[in-house]
Amino acid sequence: DVKKETLGFQTEAKQLLHLMIHSLYSNREIFLRELISNASDAIDKLRFAALADDKILEGQSDYQIRVEVDKEAATVTITDNGIGMNREEVIDNLGTIAKSGTAAFLASLTGDQKKDSQLIGQFGVGFYSAFIVAERVEVHTRKAGEPKEAGVLWESQGESEFSIGELPRDERGTSIRLFLKSDCTEFADDWRVRSVIKKYSDHISVPVLMLKQEAPGEHDESDDEAKPEAPTWETVNEATALWTRSRSDISDDEYKAFYQHVSHDFDEPLTWSHNRVEGKLEYTSLLYVPGRAPFDLWNRDASKGLKLYVQRTFIMDEAEQFLPLYLRFIRGVVDSNDLPLNVSREILQQHPSVDSMRSALTKRALDMLAKLAKSDADKYATFWREFGQVLKEGPAEDFANKEKIARLLRFATTHMDSETQDQSLDDYLGRLQEGQDKIYYVVAENFNTARRSPHLEVFRKRGIEVLLLSDRVDDWLMSHLQEFEGKKFQDVARGELDMEDASEEEKAEREKLQEESQALVERMKQSLSDEVADVRATARLTDSPACLVVGEFDMGAQMRRIMEAAGQ
Ligand code: ADP
Ligand code: MG
Repeated sequence: DVKKETLGFQTEAKQLLHLMIHSLYSNREIFLRELISNASDAIDKLRFAALADDKILEGQSDYQIRVEVDKEAATVTITDNGIGMNREEVIDNLGTIAKSGTAAFLASLTGDQKKDSQLIGQFGVGFYSAFIVAERVEVHTRKAGEPKEAGVLWESQGESEFSIGELPRDERGTSIRLFLKSDCTEFADDWRVRSVIKKYSDHISVPVLMLKQEAPGEHDESDDEAKPEAPTWETVNEATALWTRSRSDISDDEYKAFYQHVSHDFDEPLTWSHNRVEGKLEYTSLLYVPGRAPFDLWNRDASKGLKLYVQRTFIMDEAEQFLPLYLRFIRGVVDSNDLPLNVSREILQQHPSVDSMRSALTKRALDMLAKLAKSDADKYATFWREFGQVLKEGPAEDFANKEKIARLLRFATTHMDSETQDQSLDDYLGRLQEGQDKIYYVVAENFNTARRSPHLEVFRKRGIEVLLLSDRVDDWLMSHLQEFEGKKFQDVARGELDMEDASEEEKAEREKLQEESQALVERMKQSLSDEVADVRATARLTDSPACLVVGEFDMGAQMRRIMEAAGQ
């Protein structure tokens, strides 16, 4: 008798399932992409595990994914000969959602079907998408290297519980059978399933097989009595790792589908860059700029890094060593011919070729962004809105590429007087006033405070543009950006402003002002002696009577607020 028990889904998994079943009708076919993607991941994991111990292959290294449809039974079955799962892993992986962002994800749901289904893609709750089309799902699996008797059968109707029992399994790996809902039987149709596989899984390096269909006309009446031939399988997808193909052979749609595979993002990438490097170091990279920030972009342990392959063998996800932190939003693949197959995170940290690859990939990523800025202003604006804040960490982290990064920055300035950050430093330099040798900026806690800063009065009067900075990272950014194209940055709220004496007349006027106000200044100094370091008469104000100025070398006002908030 089969030892079978019924367990409840974890609360959050239940909520997600409910959502899948009741609100995601718009793009149902993606379930196949998700399940094939899991099958391919499982084969990647097995390949990797076999590097250390090839006994687990049981002599079978012909990796493949099989998809079978049965029109009468209204089922579709996806089978892989990958790593498989033991009982505990089945419960952990298919009964709970261990991912840290689940709560955040559920909180961000809008109730709008279309938006929510995109969120699901972004979150990557792949397996549960089976319940979009299935009223019942059966998973039969056995972990590679374990005996046949270790097979596990998991079953669920996707409501609040699942059952799990023992069921011996000859082959290692996993078979997932979907019993389709009555309005989803199209996915038991051979032709329909083939086209979905072509659409989403062409780039997967493992062959996806389906039973060969007998072509009409081939069938000979007189053969009817003959016993049916063994079914033959044929490969439906392209089945070569996309990045190993040459650029000219890959369509944009293929690049986009591959992006969805590596990033778990439903949306299209903004751009990508695919390169093969030969010579002292040999590697291929395929980098993507996503169209949207993941909801956990600001979490410390949000996923970052590239998928690492060595000689086309998958080694690890989230290899962080190949790009600096400020480019953590970049997704993609790097496939090296130089690293050892048994490379670990520790080895990566020390390996000399990793450093060279990192600096080359960093340049590559920055060049890709520069190209995007040049070729598509709308897309670049999207990029900046989603990731600009992260890029602003760049000048502090990456001294060598400071100028390149600075060129990619976008600011709100007094030129447009709008909160949208869309002006580059090159734009600014193109509007310099005669004799202006500095790039002026003001930092405040929000845009309106920046825009209304009394420090700006004299600049507005003279038509000199000022960058309006109000992001949290801006003080940090400006403390690492000293100059751009030979022009120094100057905080208009700091110290003396040498531009005050633009002409001889003004100089005379200022001296006169100085004299006239001497008595007042002295009196103010005395009465404010505890509050301020100095009092000066100034020409920088045209409407306001007075303003506070930070000393040239003091901490910026915003930095000070951050320190105060941190209890310093
Ligand atoms: P993700 O693929 O993003 O991890 P999924 O919901 O698609 O999330 O899958 C959850 C987990 O279930 C996977 O991480 C994996 O551990 C396990 N899993 C799913 N399908 C398979 C499979 N075919 N073979 C082995 N493990 C699988
Ligand atoms: Mg998945």
